[in-house]
Amino acid sequence: MSVLPLHHNFADQMPGFYAPWEREGFADPTLIYLNQELALELGLDPEKLQEQGDQLFCGNVLPEGTVPIAQVYAGHQFGGFSPRLGDGRAAMLGELVDVHGQAWDLSLKGSGRTVFSRGGDGRAAVSPVLREVLISHAMHHLGIPTTRALAAVATGEFVRREQMLPGAVLARTAASHIRVGTFSYFAAQGQTVELEQLVNYSISRHAPSAHAAEIPALALLAETSAKQASLIAHWMSVGFIHGVMNTDNTTLSGETIDYGPCAFMDRFDPATVYSSIDRQSRYAYGNQPGIGQWNLSRFAETLLFLIDPEQDKAVEIATATLREYSGLYDAAWTERFGAKIGIQATVHDKPLIQAFLDLLELHKVDFTQGFRRLSAVLRSGDVAVCGLFPSEESFAGWSEVWKERLVGEHDEIADALDRINPVYIARNHRVEAALTAATSGDLAPFETLMDLLSQPFTLREGFEDFEGPAPSAFDASYQTFCGT
Ligand code: AMP
Ligand code: MG
Repeated sequence: MSVLPLHHNFADQMPGFYAPWEREGFADPTLIYLNQELALELGLDPEKLQEQGDQLFCGNVLPEGTVPIAQVYAGHQFGGFSPRLGDGRAAMLGELVDVHGQAWDLSLKGSGRTVFSRGGDGRAAVSPVLREVLISHAMHHLGIPTTRALAAVATGEFVRREQMLPGAVLARTAASHIRVGTFSYFAAQGQTVELEQLVNYSISRHAPSAHAAEIPALALLAETSAKQASLIAHWMSVGFIHGVMNTDNTTLSGETIDYGPCAFMDRFDPATVYSSIDRQSRYAYGNQPGIGQWNLSRFAETLLFLIDPEQDKAVEIATATLREYSGLYDAAWTERFGAKIGIQATVHDKPLIQAFLDLLELHKVDFTQGFRRLSAVLRSGDVAVCGLFPSEESFAGWSEVWKERLVGEHDEIADALDRINPVYIARNHRVEAALTAATSGDLAPFETLMDLLSQPFTLREGFEDFEGPAPSAFDASYQTFCGT
């Protein structure tokens, strides 16, 4: 059996949705990261991948019969429509089927130019590639649906950015690479046959029960909305800011995709934005749920002709489904944040949750530590917030109401809180330090961080420096970049 037993269902079933990809090749590749755990889940042999990964995961050597492709898609970028984007620096090699029989796309990112590269070089630098490895790893172990990194290869070549930087390729798995922007591409061209085909393919892959629905396209919209509502509520609950929620980065699978300018927030402020290109704060932390709905509306627009032949009626039906998004998001948010304060929350508990968030904001408290400290309060009293809140008194009012609302033994609630409120997130200053070291060839800080992030809820001795936020001067000036 091949070391990478790929299937080519998308390539076989969906001609017209991609262009063939041809490798340019890299002279001197080195494997710098292999996700052994993921390899095993995919039924692959980590040892063989370790031996052959340098050539395989940069695309130099492809398993016999591989049909590499670059997918076409459009996208609303910061609100404006780009009718033709496509994989400008990615190549999909095919699908891998895991030990449970589920198919996962395997694609390379930074593997060279494609017909969609426009002015770009199709390449990626070590730092953004390892950034995606780190943050997708953190997300996965926080239990958040995400594309995953299977491997990273340093190409041995340099890429020209503001300065010359060492190049790398990321091998990524995804439940699929179908995005809202894939639908928008064919809708903008008036290609209704292809759109219907894409709806059918997406249903088979991501929402099989929708095939039997009265209006399958509407059922697909409803399922996709539910997944996005749940995903975004999950992001909010860990202080994650995606940074570039364009429709080409909105998946049908409900996985987080595209770790360009994303970041975890330190002190709680809903207006937080890190991305250097997000000048209007469109994708600020607090705007994410609303943007999710906006993106789903762009999705709905592409499906109208399959919902009802009469446009007005189709709009009415789709709008009713889109309205449900807010309720779904609200329920998911309430459940997650309720769990973060130790209660099975209903709508009546929203003021209690919001009051805690308001306290964090007022006192500029670190989001992650603020929630994590609640278990300590249950174990040793309000004094546990000292050092985080300005005083015990500043917390006492809320704490009193909160404790009255708790049901059950405080020790047990504290243990449950520690299973939902992480100690370790991918702190911006730690990520930057790891990437700077990796760029000059030292992978040790990257590996330490990866290790901590694989068990984000488990406190480890000797790693106190990884628990807290960056010095405020760092946070105030911190900016992220798209990493293209
Ligand atoms: P992203 O910001 O990663 O969502 O990418 C937006 C679009 O720009 C996609 O079509 C990418 O394929 C394309 N793109 C980004 N970086 C490059 C690059 N270095 N070369 C070619 N295309 C790129
Ligand atoms: Mg993208």
